[in-house]
Amino acid sequence: MQRKDLKYYYGKAEKEGWAMAQFNFSSDEQLKGIVQAAVKLRSPLLLGTSEGDSGFLGLEQTSALVDAYREKVGIPIFLNLDHGHSIEIVEQAIEAGYDAVHFDGSRLPFEENVQITKRIVELAHNRSVSVVEGEFQEVPGKHSTLHEEETLKLKADEFTDPEQAARFVKETGVDALAVLIGTVHGVYKQNPRLDLIRLQKIRKQVQSFLVLHGGSGTPPKDLLAAIKQGVVKVNVSTELRAAFTEQLRKTLAANPKEITPYNIFPPVVEQVQKVAEKKIMFFGSSQKI
Ligand SMILES: [Zn+2]
Repeated sequence: MQRKDLKYYYGKAEKEGWAMAQFNFSSDEQLKGIVQAAVKLRSPLLLGTSEGDSGFLGLEQTSALVDAYREKVGIPIFLNLDHGHSIEIVEQAIEAGYDAVHFDGSRLPFEENVQITKRIVELAHNRSVSVVEGEFQEVPGKHSTLHEEETLKLKADEFTDPEQAARFVKETGVDALAVLIGTVHGVYKQNPRLDLIRLQKIRKQVQSFLVLHGGSGTPPKDLLAAIKQGVVKVNVSTELRAAFTEQLRKTLAANPKEITPYNIFPPVVEQVQKVAEKKIMFFGSSQKI
């Protein structure tokens, strides 16, 4: 158990006007690049795996890998289950040693989502999980996709209603809430602007940390403003996947005879590290251990 838990860093970020990136990964090569970035910049590190990521790596294996880095590098590292869609997967993640869980009940009717989220909060808090994140509105856009379309049209009435958000947090007891103010999953040619006025209203009414999903292609100015207004965490996945895959393709194309993984992967790790460093600098979590 780390002395300063994830909640401590969320609190510090909120007070000081910076945010933590949640870096999603599904391979050790990605993880290596991300950890190297955080170590170099002395940033607390939040890692995430979706059901797809951990379905590939294995929940226990993911947790063990993260433990191994944590013991070695001497910076605080936290592991969050991203978009768990059932109580079962959340329980398995907790069992495997995840530090935080995100239960995504956004596809359920509101009341049912409230009931299940509340149960998850109780069982997670009994098991030394420091942050449970809830969600009651689906973040639009397909996960981790570089979309061909120009942009995604969002309607303001699909954004988070401050009163409903306050009720959700009060009734479930979640520590963090994913809010919808204009971010989308995946990267479009032009991602939508953020509704910062709505964010202010949510912040006034809601008694929990606020987090954003789908920060990959959001206009940087808007994202920074949202962070200054109290958003403590932004998920980053698409850009890391793109950096990994694009560099891997390049390396393989340039070295068609090479078959040794430890010769193929170093430039891939390096590219992932570069993207992670850029995000850490942008979100302001460098030197915040
Ligand atoms: Zn998400």
